[in-house]
Amino acid sequence: MSPLQSRRLTRVAVLSVHTSPLAQPGTGDAGGMNVYVLQSALQMAKRGVEVEIFTRATSSADEPVVEAAPGVLVRNVVAGPFEGLDKHDLPTQLCAFAAGVLREEARNQPGHYDLIHSHYWLSGQVGWLARDRWGVPLVHTAHTLAAVKNASLAEGDTPEPAAREIGERQVVEEADRLIANTAEEAKQLIETYGAPLDKIDVVSPGADLARYRPGDRAAARAAFGIDPLESVVTFVGRIQPLKAPDVLLRAAAEILTRRPDAPLRVLVVGGPSGTGLARPDSLIELAADLGIADRVTFLPPQPPDRLVEVYRASDVVAVPSYSESFGLVAIEAQACGTPVIAADVGGLGTAVRNGETGILVQGHRADDWASALGSMLADRSELARMGERAHHHADNFSWEHTAEGLLASYRKALVDYDIRDSRAEAPAQRRPRGMWKIRRGVRA
Ligand code: UDP
Repeated sequence: MSPLQSRRLTRVAVLSVHTSPLAQPGTGDAGGMNVYVLQSALQMAKRGVEVEIFTRATSSADEPVVEAAPGVLVRNVVAGPFEGLDKHDLPTQLCAFAAGVLREEARNQPGHYDLIHSHYWLSGQVGWLARDRWGVPLVHTAHTLAAVKNASLAEGDTPEPAAREIGERQVVEEADRLIANTAEEAKQLIETYGAPLDKIDVVSPGADLARYRPGDRAAARAAFGIDPLESVVTFVGRIQPLKAPDVLLRAAAEILTRRPDAPLRVLVVGGPSGTGLARPDSLIELAADLGIADRVTFLPPQPPDRLVEVYRASDVVAVPSYSESFGLVAIEAQACGTPVIAADVGGLGTAVRNGETGILVQGHRADDWASALGSMLADRSELARMGERAHHHADNFSWEHTAEGLLASYRKALVDYDIRDSRAEAPAQRRPRGMWKIRRGVRA
């Protein structure tokens, strides 16, 4: 495209290979990324930018294309077996997935998509190829990074394979722009993955603030049969070692050892995911081993209209993760006026204002968590003030705001691409710089 002319932005191809935006989050591989992909697409469509989300079909019952909302299509691409394909085997299906994406585009007029936004490194690999074929910019969001995750693994967790880190580095190098959830993630992209600063945009994820807002606590408790007099501390999310719901159980046991009559209830909402704690019964067994089985209530993954009641019913929401690129649960809980106790890792330092809207705990020792949680629950008036401040803090994180940030990044990507295209420097015309050796996460 030379001489220079400005590109329009009417339709974006969003790639989400390994998890569908239509899946129920909170179990298996469905979590914050699904919510992010769907919510940002809905906001794009409201701003007049159509979105087509490509994801891998995981059931023979999946329709090839589903309209999630006006202007948002979900395309279920057949790539490999519908069910039972382990996440670690997904790289074997990237070629099939890419073929599906390219064939779909070929059915349309040239220039059907103006830009590609890939989520997670697997999608980044497909986006890299499609970008070169279509001559449009590639914007990539990593969501999590293998090198960062491997640096803070939970006990019993399996390290991410070197192949993932190689794939991530390729995408970081090839993408036209990179979206980081927080400044800390931007720093990790630069320092660990060698990304150039001027290629990164920091765009915070959000929460559906129209849904997640304070409400009637007594009614919410009644909906789940929770005693109105108990102190309720809640974990919401995929049950896996990295998310560390066991830390909350151990902290609760510690509090109850110190004060056996404490009216404490732990609510665990979510389903199994990944390894280690993946067995549905393992947390139930842990609660029994700790002698607190009667103080723990387990709920399966909840849809958003029930989840809002979970947050309202809770005195504190706990996010004890070992690694967290952002932590949507922390924002959703605060939006409902519920303070958060979180591990001081990754994006949680941005999501929670330490001492104001919740408490950030260093490390994962049960006694540290018990002390921090115990002191939060002991001062009810300060807890109520924290809840007020939490609600206001969450106002900074809306999907509307996220969409504006993404659009700004897309426009930058289009302009830069145009300039490079007019100078015959577009990525598709460039020679790859070649492969690097991976040595303990350092590019050699
Ligand atoms: N979630 C849900 N129902 C559940 C548990 C979780 O809808 O029972 C959603 C939750 O609302 C949040 C997402 O799953 O938007 C989890 O995102 P987060 O960033 O906290 O964790 P991730 O799954 O990305 O590690």
